[in-house]
Amino acid sequence: EWLAAAGQENIIIFFSQIMIIVGIGVFLALTFYRASYGRYWNEAWFSEYAINARVAWFFQELPSLLFAMAALYMYGSELTIPRFIAFIMFAGHYYQRSMIYPFLINGGKKTAPHLFLSALAFCSYNGYIQAFYHVKFANFAPTHAFNIFSQIGIVLFLTGLIINIHSDSILRNLRQPGETGYKIPYGGMFEYVSAANFFGEILEWFGYALYCQTWPAVAFALFTLCNLGPRASQHHQYYVKKFDNYPKDRRILIPLFY
Ligand code: NDP
Repeated sequence: EWLAAAGQENIIIFFSQIMIIVGIGVFLALTFYRASYGRYWNEAWFSEYAINARVAWFFQELPSLLFAMAALYMYGSELTIPRFIAFIMFAGHYYQRSMIYPFLINGGKKTAPHLFLSALAFCSYNGYIQAFYHVKFANFAPTHAFNIFSQIGIVLFLTGLIINIHSDSILRNLRQPGETGYKIPYGGMFEYVSAANFFGEILEWFGYALYCQTWPAVAFALFTLCNLGPRASQHHQYYVKKFDNYPKDRRILIPLFY
């Protein structure tokens, strides 16, 4: 009842604002503590309940795709071209992240259950606010897709998507079958930064935010930066410490800057 009274649109905006605050909390937490999946997988944390990487990635990312499908099913008739572009950016990314990426992982470490559950919660919460807001409520002008910010946003999103997928494929190909260790990645954006895949991901969501210029999209871009920024810096430190021959001019996350 209170849901109906407040109006779904206002609730989604409120949820987005909460996401920004939680994002700042996540950023602060990750500066003290490393998310225990991948190379920081910590046997001490609930190891008996650890989840296979492939299974974890599939199930934890799936809710975003399911919420996108639900929004389309329920409110598809309200889609306009500008809304459809926002929708397809989000749904397209999550199609690749849940239906393709998990099945390409090889030798990935396990995921601790608390991280699996937080990713699952995030993808449900974020899936709901992104999909429902952009399919049903976003107040785009009919010419929205043609304005210069929208066009730059689309280009940044697509560039980020390509960098993210390309960089993840470089990482995947560093290992021979059965290997589990870490090597220095070369090629593509790895020539400039240690966390090229995260750079791509962040670029995608900032492009999306520039296109949409809505609370949910801006919140998602900021959250991604808060979540992946500290992890990028941990990866960079890990490489510098482990490899004496690590390229000296390689930055952490943003080519030439950071
Ligand atoms: P990582 O870069 O930590 O790892 C990606 C994969 O590559 C893992 O399978 C990892 O193996 C392997 N790998 C990484 N570095 C090396 C290396 N030097 N040598 C050999 N193998 C390596 O990325 P994440 O797992 O954190 O993230 C995966 C994807 O999900 C990325 O595209 C990221 O952008 C996205 N993501 C998005 C988030 C968001 O907030 N939007 C949050 C988290 C991730 P292993 O598992 O054994 O370490």
